[in-house]
Amino acid sequence: AQWVYAFGGGGADGDASMKNLLGGKGANLAEMSSLGLPVPPGFTITTEACVHYYANGKQYPAELAEQVQAGLAKIEEITGKQFGDVTNPLLVSVRSGARASMPGMMDTVLNLGLNDETVEGLAKLSGDRRFAYDSYRRFIQMYSNVVLNLEHHMFEEILDDHKDRLDVNVDTGLTADDWAAVIKDYKAAVREQLGKPFPQDAQEQLWGAVGAVFASWMNDRAKFYRRMHDIPESWGTAVNIQSMVFGNMGETSATGVAFTRNPSNGDNRLYGEFLINAQGEDVVAGIRTPQSLTKAAREEMGDTAPSMEEAMPEVFGQFKTVVETLERHYRDMQDIEFTVEQGKLYMLQTRNGKRTAKAALKIAVDMAAEGVISTSEAVGRVEPASLDQLLHPTIDPSAHRDVIAKGLPASPGAATGKIVFNSDAAEKAAANGESVILVREETSPEDIHGMHAARGIITARGGMTSHAAVVARGMGRPCVSGAGDVAIFEKEGLFRVRGRDFRAGEIITIDGSTGDILAGAPKMIEPELTGDFATLMGWADQVRRLKVRANAETPLDAKTARQFGAEGIGLCRTEHMFFDDTRIAAVREMILADDEKGRRAALAKIAPFQKADFVELFTIMEGLPVTIRLLDPPLHEFLPHTEEDVQAVAVATGLDAAKLMRRAKELHETNPMLGHRGCRLGVSYPEIYEMQVRAILEAACEVKKAGKQPPAPEIMHPLVAKGEEMKYLRDLTDRVAKAVLEEQGVALEYTVGTMIELPRAALRAGDLAANAEFFSFGTNDLTQTTFGISRDDAGKFLNAYIEKGIFEKDPFVSLDQDGVGDLIRIAAERGRAVRPNVKLGICGEHGGDPASIGFCEKVGLDYVSCSPYRVPIARLAAAQAAM
Ligand code: ADP
Ligand code: MG
Ligand code: MG
Repeated sequence: AQWVYAFGGGGADGDASMKNLLGGKGANLAEMSSLGLPVPPGFTITTEACVHYYANGKQYPAELAEQVQAGLAKIEEITGKQFGDVTNPLLVSVRSGARASMPGMMDTVLNLGLNDETVEGLAKLSGDRRFAYDSYRRFIQMYSNVVLNLEHHMFEEILDDHKDRLDVNVDTGLTADDWAAVIKDYKAAVREQLGKPFPQDAQEQLWGAVGAVFASWMNDRAKFYRRMHDIPESWGTAVNIQSMVFGNMGETSATGVAFTRNPSNGDNRLYGEFLINAQGEDVVAGIRTPQSLTKAAREEMGDTAPSMEEAMPEVFGQFKTVVETLERHYRDMQDIEFTVEQGKLYMLQTRNGKRTAKAALKIAVDMAAEGVISTSEAVGRVEPASLDQLLHPTIDPSAHRDVIAKGLPASPGAATGKIVFNSDAAEKAAANGESVILVREETSPEDIHGMHAARGIITARGGMTSHAAVVARGMGRPCVSGAGDVAIFEKEGLFRVRGRDFRAGEIITIDGSTGDILAGAPKMIEPELTGDFATLMGWADQVRRLKVRANAETPLDAKTARQFGAEGIGLCRTEHMFFDDTRIAAVREMILADDEKGRRAALAKIAPFQKADFVELFTIMEGLPVTIRLLDPPLHEFLPHTEEDVQAVAVATGLDAAKLMRRAKELHETNPMLGHRGCRLGVSYPEIYEMQVRAILEAACEVKKAGKQPPAPEIMHPLVAKGEEMKYLRDLTDRVAKAVLEEQGVALEYTVGTMIELPRAALRAGDLAANAEFFSFGTNDLTQTTFGISRDDAGKFLNAYIEKGIFEKDPFVSLDQDGVGDLIRIAAERGRAVRPNVKLGICGEHGGDPASIGFCEKVGLDYVSCSPYRVPIARLAAAQAAM
């Protein structure tokens, strides 16, 4: 089998389409090479080799060694250098590269092939001893960390000691001899730690690094990242071995990263950072402050250090052409790594750039306008879930801004929370339901869990392409990076900024769109839903077939839902209308009533409230369908339970305390979710449902009589299991409706249907369809009842199931398409067999989950219904599902 694919010298074995085999990095290196761009030659060890490695007790495929040697020989031929040769040494980088990009998740080793002898060869060859030793010490440090698992700080301490001794504070202040002394101490430290010397043999180094890249696929950071982004472990990573080019060969050398458009706001302008006389990770690591690429950007930032455009105009011109070629070729915004070695440009990586939702929208809409992509392609370019970032509040421009510091606007959106200084604290506080802002000197991949838990992130160091900035954008967390005025005293639990102290636990706010850090919690405002957002949503609406409705019962929710483009209400939970202070007293009175007469008397008090609610809802919805679910929860949910609460309620309402307590005890159920709830309430106390049906229809008549759009009420009976149940409820509904419409003298369309929440209901959907004009899949309960798992208790064991791979995802978040999905398929089929035009929708949490929406499209449901804020996500997901 072929485990190794070469690239470089103007051609390649692979191409961009081979990401699965070569990983993203390897496939694009091959593609760039074939495009004739200046790519240092190298080869890719395939992901299949990694899969083979893990499937065979960590053994390499038999042919691998031979193919790697052939790959090396080819690099040697192109470069004219020899791997391990003392006079003319070839140095390589060993880089990981999975199918999906996992920034900073895995480890790269640069300058491999250096040892005590080749470093002298490199010094002679380059005529620069300092450069050679600088490269060697970097190599020892990286290799020791990545391959030998020695800690970074050991090397940092040694370097700091030397700097103190020499009284210099930047790395560039060290001479060749200084570096030689550092290297000596590095090697001594390695020997002391491992009991054996730092490996001198180039081949041993190479295989050590290859093994470490494979091993890094299984490290904790990588596992966490994969879980967060749904990347299967089975994919494996490729390894790229590539001849080194040097950005640290003096003032005509540099290294940098660029985006063809601004990844934060989508502006169509070259964007990025570079460092003169530096290597690889220096730019991202935040060790030195990088310089702008373009003159315009430098002026905007008010920087003094020259931009690349000014410092090396000729190379910059060439670079600009390459970058434009790449964007045109890939038809998408590119994220690019490059190095300039003594005035010569080399391309080291390109990929479709990660971007904020705001940038994704703008880039998609712009590229469609530029004619680079079609409008439906543009619809496919925006991740539905990422819209969440745009739908969140920003700071009210009229609010008072107590700005305490400024950093870079690394990831947009505003967030308020308590200050925490480390990731574990962030995770703990978030688990307690607190909002926190994580404040760090800089972040590293070890901080992923803390960044995930935090509402927002501040770093004191690092640029727009620092780890914190890249990861925060990917997660949709607001982030302010490089806030240099913030002095962090982690041990003391405070940060100081311009003479003010802020302690852990204090509330601050960040504005990731401006880079402001503010004291306190200024007022926030809702997002603007016009411009690119409206354009793209319009294109999405042209493509989608599924209708999108919202779950809403309050006027505010209903208005928000309409603003977000909801085409109706898919679930109005009437019990939410009962909890209001003025109503709950009457509800309790009804529950305490000794007989039907008493209940009716209490219900008569609730009826006007209920009717008024519906009038308001129908008015807001202007003729769009509104599905109203009749009372669903067990009655004891409305009663106080503890002795204290009972007393308080008795005093407040004048109800008898002893009676309250007795009734609460009577209503107690061992298993309330399977107890006296849903339509079982309507069957045992029909007067409750009668009151509700009456309120709905009277409200509808009133709205129609007022000359407004006639409402389209859909009356929904929850938790039905049997055809006979449905028939009883249908008759009840029609009887009341007929009476109301006659009384009012109004002709009005209404429909009667049911939620499908029980496996029996799904299986016997034909029986239900005889009397139900619509089904709404209540997938929260249907998931509970199908698995026999209570959502409220699942937290205790669900993680173990996910960790052990028994559940891929939480079935309450993303629909179990095999099991619960099968029931939905069966119900749809059997329901339609009896009533071909039965209307089908889904109203569980899953209605806003893009993967679940894909399933709904496949089954041919008519609509999905989700929380108002998820409506745009659902519209986009529905469009993508239809493409
Ligand atoms: P990551 O996935 O973390 O970006 P990379 O493999 O891309 O890791 O490499 C890390 C850094 O080293 C990048 O800045 C990259 O440009 C640089 N680098 C990688 N290979 C080479 C090489 N052959 N010559 C010079 N720099 C390199
Ligand atoms: Mg890396
Ligand atoms: Mg890279």
